[in-house]
Amino acid sequence: MRHHPRHNAAKLRGMATPGIIAHGELLIDFVPTTSGVTLIEAAAFVKAPGGAPANVAVGLARLGESVGFMGQVGDDAFGHFLADVLNTNHVDTRGLKFSQQARTALAFVSLRADGERDFMFYRHPSADMFYAPADVEPDLLNECHVFHFGSISLIAEPARSATLHAVAIARQANALITYDPNLRMPLWPDTEAALDGMLRGWTEAGLIKVSEEELVFLTGLPAEDWREAVRGLWHTHLRLVLVTRGAQGCYYITPHFSGEMPSFAVNAVDTTGAGDAFMASMIHGLLRQPEAWEHEETLRQVCHFANAAGALTTTQRGAIPALPTRAQVENFLNAQH
Ligand code: ADP
Repeated sequence: MRHHPRHNAAKLRGMATPGIIAHGELLIDFVPTTSGVTLIEAAAFVKAPGGAPANVAVGLARLGESVGFMGQVGDDAFGHFLADVLNTNHVDTRGLKFSQQARTALAFVSLRADGERDFMFYRHPSADMFYAPADVEPDLLNECHVFHFGSISLIAEPARSATLHAVAIARQANALITYDPNLRMPLWPDTEAALDGMLRGWTEAGLIKVSEEELVFLTGLPAEDWREAVRGLWHTHLRLVLVTRGAQGCYYITPHFSGEMPSFAVNAVDTTGAGDAFMASMIHGLLRQPEAWEHEETLRQVCHFANAAGALTTTQRGAIPALPTRAQVENFLNAQH
């Protein structure tokens, strides 16, 4: 089946728009068929759908939320494959564009034997980078409750302006703005640009998920000074920051309280997508239990669920195949007692 932007515009009329919009990159990850090899050593690769905002969208759909994706792929086989993956996973693709100008972004990614990730990106440029302010569909944003984005779409123009334009429309619509600053140093021109870009997104958001390493990068403070680090980056419309800590779980900090939640002991085989499952669960939890914003015990329950979703995601290879449904997280939590 071919997808075309013209059809999207037609579809936009008359159909309910999703309550959550995830915005940003959608790409192909090529992963070696054997694990523990470098990209030099790898003999063969399989294609997997990738891109953090797209993973968050699928994660939300698995949790039963109505969600759409906004961004751009190439009008090529990989772009149409990615659109099919989103459609199959019940993510609304009316906001997905197909570029004639550039191909779908590719990333070759290997988990080396030493546990480090080897990345090689093909986006010189790629379709997602050409997503322009005029491509943003205000009709999709005017009624959304949550707008989620990351920092990769803030790297190059015109995608950067398009991202900030979409955020501005969503804010106007009183949507909760959620943000995941992803550090992918090879994609930024230099360290200063990475810092600037990641912080630019930070100033827009009401809910932020950041990893310990990213927080250290953003503030220069050691990880144990997380409270001071987050407070130093506080702004008036920020309501909650979650600091993810891999197997150790997360920290949470609001204007009223802060604390930590440990994760679960699991047999982790691939951590790809854990942060995205965690983010999707936090958005889902805060939508379903809005008292969590003010009430620490409820927020701890939401973090508990999100940690479980993140932990479960590490027990299977790949991001999208591993993202759990609500029932899977609940079964996992019930089995803990
Ligand atoms: P990211 O760096 O992408 O934000 P993390 O790797 O810290 O994400 O994972 C997000 C969440 O998933 C963690 O906060 C934790 O709750 C859970 N998680 C990740 N890795 C593990 C693991 N090895 N064991 C248990 N839980 C994990």
